[in-house]
Amino acid sequence: MDTSTSSIEQALLKDAERVRCLIIGSGPAGCTAAIYASRANLAPVLYEGVQPGGQLTTTREVENFPGYTDGLTGPEIMERLKKQATRLGADFRWGEATAVDFSNRPFKVTIDNNNMILAETVIISTGASAKYLGLPDEKKFAGAGVSACATCDGFFFKGKDVAVVGGGDTAAEEALFLSHFCNKVYLIIRRSEMRATKALQDRVLKLKKIEILWEHETQALLGDNLLEGAILLYKKGTPEEKEVRIKIDGFFLGIGHKPNSDIFRDYIEMDEVGYIKTIPGTPQTNIPGVFACGDVQDKVYRQAVTAAGSGCMAAIEAERFLSDQE
Ligand code: NDP
Repeated sequence: MDTSTSSIEQALLKDAERVRCLIIGSGPAGCTAAIYASRANLAPVLYEGVQPGGQLTTTREVENFPGYTDGLTGPEIMERLKKQATRLGADFRWGEATAVDFSNRPFKVTIDNNNMILAETVIISTGASAKYLGLPDEKKFAGAGVSACATCDGFFFKGKDVAVVGGGDTAAEEALFLSHFCNKVYLIIRRSEMRATKALQDRVLKLKKIEILWEHETQALLGDNLLEGAILLYKKGTPEEKEVRIKIDGFFLGIGHKPNSDIFRDYIEMDEVGYIKTIPGTPQTNIPGVFACGDVQDKVYRQAVTAAGSGCMAAIEAERFLSDQE
């Protein structure tokens, strides 16, 4: 570490706030951890991150969260979870954890590069973010036709032709959602089959407005300032390879997610993709006192209810850890 960095750290340390339980991230996992940690008198402080409420805030109807008999929208569920945690005493704050030092306790967590928290325990619930294809034009057309959230941005494409890329549940749901108000929806799938659950596949296949482009891969996006089309390759790399051009105003990514774990990489064990490794059946990471819950450590189930359950486990373990220490 150079002298300038350590002098910045010294300055931050001087005004650092000490907390018993710091929760990073405000999706179902973080909010549930906040509920349980509040009830365990840990006076949790929660930083909401760049997407307060997490991925569920970009979902429309959620029908499978237990207890909501008639379904509820993602933002409504998150609003309720936050309200419940706040009522029980959790301190929700705007801000993003930008650096950590887990080499000793209390753990040092820097918020927005200008404020330091010293935490006896840390619960990581930073979730996962949508993946992009990596085409240079995706950045060029961000906010001008390219989006990773149909629920957030779909409305701008009323009456237009759009495309969704991906063959999983996310892509299928996005295509179905867009079909309600777009003129036409192309579903670009790189293989000859979909990964989405059977029920969603059936709904997608039934809709005339959705045209599935099997075995197509996106090569480039076209347009000057606004997106106007895409160049695809059919059966890329085979003798039958063929270029296909489509005219579209919107291009939606539905190809999965990447865990938001980069800032923990120097301290926390993770797999090659970045999912945090926990001791199976527990939220315990390789560092005692640091726990992980929700999508940042779950590449299998990735559901709001499983995230909430693991947030509960993390708070219980944080409380046990502190009791053992004290
Ligand atoms: P998935 O990983 O399940 O699917 C990703 C899709 O994108 C696959 O079809 C994959 O193709 C394709 N893909 C990945 N990379 C590329 C690329 N570079 N170019 C083209 N296509 C690509 O992600 P989802 O986000 O769909 O789902 C994640 C999890 O969340 C799943 O467990 C899912 O069940 C769950 N989920 C549940 C919902 C619900 O219950 N309502 C809604 C949304 C998600 P390939 O198959 O060839 O790898």
